[in-house]
Amino acid sequence: MTAAAPTISVRVHGAAGEVTGSCYEVTTPHAHLLVDFGMFQGSMEQESRNLVAPDLDFKTLDAVLVTHAHVDHCGRLGMLPALGFHGPVLATEPTAELLPRVLISSATLQQTRIQENRAGTAPTSRVLAPAHLASSIPIRTEPPPVLFMHRDAEKVARSVRALPFMEWEPIAQGVEMRFLHASHVIGAASIELRVQRAGSVEPARVLFSGDIGPISNPLLAPHQWSDRAPDLLVMESTNGARRFAQVDQYQEFIAILKETRDKGQRLLAPVFALGRAQTMLQLFARASSEGILRGMPVYLDSAMASRACELYARHPALLEASVHRACMRGTNPLHFPELHTLMSRRESESVDRIKTACVILAGSGFCDAGPILRHVKLAIDQPDTRILFTGHQLDGLLGHGLLSGATRVEINGAALDVRAKIDRITGISGHGDSDDLLEWVKRMPGSVRTIALTHGSEEARGEFAAILRQQLPSDVRLPMVGDTLQVE
Ligand SMILES: [Zn+2]
Repeated sequence: MTAAAPTISVRVHGAAGEVTGSCYEVTTPHAHLLVDFGMFQGSMEQESRNLVAPDLDFKTLDAVLVTHAHVDHCGRLGMLPALGFHGPVLATEPTAELLPRVLISSATLQQTRIQENRAGTAPTSRVLAPAHLASSIPIRTEPPPVLFMHRDAEKVARSVRALPFMEWEPIAQGVEMRFLHASHVIGAASIELRVQRAGSVEPARVLFSGDIGPISNPLLAPHQWSDRAPDLLVMESTNGARRFAQVDQYQEFIAILKETRDKGQRLLAPVFALGRAQTMLQLFARASSEGILRGMPVYLDSAMASRACELYARHPALLEASVHRACMRGTNPLHFPELHTLMSRRESESVDRIKTACVILAGSGFCDAGPILRHVKLAIDQPDTRILFTGHQLDGLLGHGLLSGATRVEINGAALDVRAKIDRITGISGHGDSDDLLEWVKRMPGSVRTIALTHGSEEARGEFAAILRQQLPSDVRLPMVGDTLQVE
């Protein structure tokens, strides 16, 4: 009896019909790989999914490839040693610099959470009113899951290997890979695989988009495209149902800044340390150069964000052309005279007493933990506070509740009326909108045989699938977790 012809397959282990938990298993005739090993984020139920390891044999993996250093793509890498994987973790140079920090601080945070949970001091937040929102965010009663310990994070950090962009690298028998710039955050890449197949001189190509930034990114260098369309494209669709072209985000931003300045308000902006913080700082730097801040201080309350900013400045070739030129002239694109960085809890508390107009950028971007929660607790019941949301908010967390119209909230045990003004600017995104995503696919040479849409809500990927089917001859699929895609 002849064995069935060995095939190339991609099994989806997360981020299918949802926006977190990116993880794909690639099996070829001679190799076994993992692309991304991200955390599920959001509700407690989502978080608890992190404890369940994907159903695969980690011991047989040849390598783990990482698209970028966002937690929903890399947050579970620290689990690898316990799961039996001790091989290389491959990433671009900036991502390789970030990963150890992300993993070790994540391990520290997991331990801190456990201690806080035992002591009853864990950060908590929920909506109290109106009633229909209150029921949507249950307060945490269980200790948060511990996914990995410090020593495992350090072990993985030591196994991270940096590879350059656009250069093919043999990584397992019959498999080469390369990173293509994805213009999403510093170091973010799409991952292209070239896999030898029996009976064909032309290798099969599989492309994992990772997160795709806007086509015209004001901060980062443009995307890189392959010289050949892939046989299978596994593609994110986070903003597949959104179009930002009509919105002039900068004018909206300036209007908020001017009002903050003129009315002596305190503007709080939840930001993620990697990506959103730098995008916002670039906007503030522009506002500063146009004389709009007029001395109004902007505090960046995130040590991780400050370090990520340094990384942007250290990789000018990965920045947008004019930003690159400015960098080469010695101008830091993310710095301006009104910017102050707060690197410790003490420094963070030092701004509590400020009574004049100021801006505080702090994590977490979901507004449910970290220094932003402390700042929000202190000021949310004051009418001269405003909270500016610029990013996607996960259902079940405080940021989502505030944007949905919460009037009373509980933060770390204190019940507070929401008197702060809640602002939202859409379109300041590290992810391309549906026009960008379509453009990104269309710029590939030739047509993609199969496109599997992941990393987007069911609505987002459903709408984007309809657009793709209308415009391209590709077979567009919407896989679920556990589904396997075959490369023909
Ligand atoms: Zn990302």
